[in-house]
Amino acid sequence: MKLLCFILLISFTFHSVSAQQPVEKAVNTINEQNARSIIGFLASDALEGRRAGSNSGKVTAEYLASYLISLGIEPLSDSYFQQFEAYNEDFQSRKRYTVEPDSIVKYKQRVHRVLKMQNVIGMIGGVNPDEYVIVGAHYDHLGKDESLEGDQIYNGADDNASGVSAVMQIAKAFVESGVKPQRNVIFAFWDGEELGLLGSRYFTMSCTFTNDIKGYLNFDMIGRNNDESQPKHVVYFYSEQHPVFGNWLKDSIRKYGLNLEPDYRPSDNLLGGSDNRSFARYDIPVIWYHTDGHPDYHKPSDEASHINWGKLVDITKAAFLNMWNLANEKNY
Ligand SMILES: [Zn+2]
Repeated sequence: MKLLCFILLISFTFHSVSAQQPVEKAVNTINEQNARSIIGFLASDALEGRRAGSNSGKVTAEYLASYLISLGIEPLSDSYFQQFEAYNEDFQSRKRYTVEPDSIVKYKQRVHRVLKMQNVIGMIGGVNPDEYVIVGAHYDHLGKDESLEGDQIYNGADDNASGVSAVMQIAKAFVESGVKPQRNVIFAFWDGEELGLLGSRYFTMSCTFTNDIKGYLNFDMIGRNNDESQPKHVVYFYSEQHPVFGNWLKDSIRKYGLNLEPDYRPSDNLLGGSDNRSFARYDIPVIWYHTDGHPDYHKPSDEASHINWGKLVDITKAAFLNMWNLANEKNY
């Protein structure tokens, strides 16, 4: 009897482990501990607010590339770093930096400023090498203002260390699934978003395969409560021509018991707000998650201690499941 129980126990244990589907196994690698570790570092005072073009921006880029290497994810091209320059007039100008070639030619003819930045990009090759899906978040923030009294560092925990943590955990989940996706899956960390969506704009402008990008999923600020009485609130923007994107999220919430109450916002105009604009202008289907504004937005007080970790983790899981579908569903 004892032996029988033992055998039953062994076979049950073995069965429950082996029965776990790759997608479930992958979802279960996404957790609060990883999110705390990533955001704790990115939003630490030591990183001085990750301003585009600063040394702390470079350190952040090195950290992200080293993370992709540790997962065994290859660079999209010959390097993880996609370097680019943005131009502007002298510092008295109120104009924004630009990466548009026509404007750069004009700026070069007079007094101008140049800022050197880098996106960090990795890719898992798909079974079908001719189609791409992309998940991205900007890693730059506002840096440091030494003329401020008191706290001088814009830590950017919500904006956008939260989104970066989601891309990082999703990359790991894809690797841990052990499954080669149907489409190529690109993991992108954009620079220069705060200066005018520069990194994502440079990427799409110089990309040779925009017609083959089947979807872009964006994160910008996914860690806070806009209203403390609604801790499950998240805005879910998605391209109206793909109503199935809404169904995917509803199914995932039900199946995985995610603690989210999304505000579903299908739209045919996703040209606002964040790096999704750089993709929507090429009519690439877009999904983007955002937990709305809050009093610490673009303030030195946007610190890790204010993050709603449970919500951040559940948004990351929901978005991983979106990416799994984008990468593997034949039709949508
Ligand atoms: Zn942002």
